[in-house]
Amino acid sequence: MKKFWQKSRGYAALLSLLCFLFALAWPEPESPFLPASGQEGVDVPVVMYHHVLEEDSSLLGDYVISRQELESDLQWLQKAGYTPVSPSQLIAYAAGEGDLPQRPILLTFDDGYESFFANAYPLLQKYQMPAVVSVIGRYSNLYSQPDAVRHLNYSHLDWEQVKALSRSPYVSIGSHSYDMHDASGQESRSGAKRLSGETDEHYAQVFTADTQKIHEAITDVTGKEPTLYAYPFGFYTAQSEEILKNLGYQITLSCESRVSRITRDPASLFLLGRFNRPHGLSSQDFFARMRLEATEGA
Ligand SMILES: [Zn+2]
Repeated sequence: MKKFWQKSRGYAALLSLLCFLFALAWPEPESPFLPASGQEGVDVPVVMYHHVLEEDSSLLGDYVISRQELESDLQWLQKAGYTPVSPSQLIAYAAGEGDLPQRPILLTFDDGYESFFANAYPLLQKYQMPAVVSVIGRYSNLYSQPDAVRHLNYSHLDWEQVKALSRSPYVSIGSHSYDMHDASGQESRSGAKRLSGETDEHYAQVFTADTQKIHEAITDVTGKEPTLYAYPFGFYTAQSEEILKNLGYQITLSCESRVSRITRDPASLFLLGRFNRPHGLSSQDFFARMRLEATEGA
């Protein structure tokens, strides 16, 4: 038995030596985990956040996380060597200009809640991480009225706050429709969905008008044209994609739970997958769901 053990150890050593020599002699294969400058592009996971409230809030759930959970996520990403990037960095990369950091990730906040300003923005500044907040025009209008009743539990960013945020190097403002963020009732189209029996012309007219309205509102307030459109509830059509491209959008976000590969092709920035971050999971468990690796170089 001992002999066999010694013999098999000898074989194992020989095998490792052969593997080593083979590895030296063999050209390096194209690895999917090459640095961002690789020809094959780079995987860019996208996190979808919504509302960020206090730890003792009774509203915590699938679309409402605590400030502590957000901070824990940012710390986890920092420790694991992930670098949040801005939409402009992705656009530049896809256009063949500039590189992305080793482990890029895009952080997105949907619905433009006022809680973004109060609870998420200070953390982005603290950790110096960029993110996108995608606003709904109708709600930002509503909360810009002087008589609007506000409470952090439900209010959305007013236009003054959107303007202030747009001045920050850590915030990009995205479109989340002007008034298509409605999934209730029989008559509702649910985001950018087509109504049954609706003609292409009518659909195009409605979607174009709504998108132009939010586009103009954001441009007027911030002085910058939005380049990113986050589909309400993730619903889209081939036609909505065409319309957004024609209106100058360069990134669209779906709600499909997958990691997208960005290449040196601007078309790779459309319909990016995203993972919703719910309350009640540790950062480790949530990012494992996205298949992110816990340690740099792992
Ligand atoms: Zn939304």
